[in-house]
Amino acid sequence: MAAPASTFFILTGTAIGAIFTITNPLVHGIEYILMLPLLISLFYFNKRYLLFSLILNCLLFIAVVQLSERHHQNVSLFDLLAFIFIMIGAYFVVLGALSRGLILISDLTKTIQSEQELLVRTVVMDKLSKTDALTDLYNHKTFHEYLDKLVEHSEDSDMPLHLAIMDIDNFKSINDTFGHATGDVVLKRVAAVISESISSSEIVARYGGEEFAIIFTEKALHDSYTEVETIRESIHQMDFDEMDGRKVSVSIGLSSYQKGSSKSKLFQESDQLLYQAKRSGKNRTVMDDSASILA
Ligand code: GH3
Ligand code: MG
Ligand code: MG
Repeated sequence: MAAPASTFFILTGTAIGAIFTITNPLVHGIEYILMLPLLISLFYFNKRYLLFSLILNCLLFIAVVQLSERHHQNVSLFDLLAFIFIMIGAYFVVLGALSRGLILISDLTKTIQSEQELLVRTVVMDKLSKTDALTDLYNHKTFHEYLDKLVEHSEDSDMPLHLAIMDIDNFKSINDTFGHATGDVVLKRVAAVISESISSSEIVARYGGEEFAIIFTEKALHDSYTEVETIRESIHQMDFDEMDGRKVSVSIGLSSYQKGSSKSKLFQESDQLLYQAKRSGKNRTVMDDSASILA
């Protein structure tokens, strides 16, 4: 798009210059209006347009002097050479400004590019510092940061807040029997099932080695329970080719935040409920009131 527009303006400048020059043969120096297209080409930061303007306007003036009788009489050879010389001088002045402008544009482009790279790197670093590399879930530190904020918010509002802590059953035995790499596969797939099952208002983190935490901020406790039970069942239904058909199960403790309580108390409660789920046979969810629900 820039080329036709620039050509149009340069030719328009040349036409205006030509009209003034041709119609005013007695006005000395009027031909310097033909410098105008040179200045126009400066706005397009294009050296080729500049050279084109110089050649076009010099040739134009030579043609006018040669073809117009009155110009031929009024313009001496010295005037013609002086015109060409000054046009070439103007060409180099504009060329200098244009080259400087191109350097500035190039520097500016590089600065913008490096700023963009820095921004992308900051975003990537930020994500890396918030997530766990194996499962891509939020890490322990980020989990606590979010829970801190949500507990604070819950104190000043009616927002429900429930915490589920989920622990893979007999995970050490999986590692011991099938190897650490298989253990990692199990962790990844369990994490993926949880991520796919939760809604956007819920936060899931890899809390520890084979422990996950889910924070619920919209659902009633009963609905949160239904959701973790669905997750638990989905995990138990997964097939692992690496483990000769052996099933994976999780135990879950789920409790609710009560106003005036604290984050550590909420956490302790869920942890104790998880402990009860383990003691009462694993592969189950135990909720707030310590009511054990068998799988
Ligand atoms: P329980 O049913 O009572 O939870 O028993 P468990 O065997 O699951 O629990 P335990 O605490 O005895 O073992 C947890 C194991 O998890 C021990 C540790 O080596 C393993 N583990 C922790 N992090 C990772 C990991 O990133 N990858 C693998 N493969 N194993 C891990
Ligand atoms: Mg554990
Ligand atoms: Mg475990």
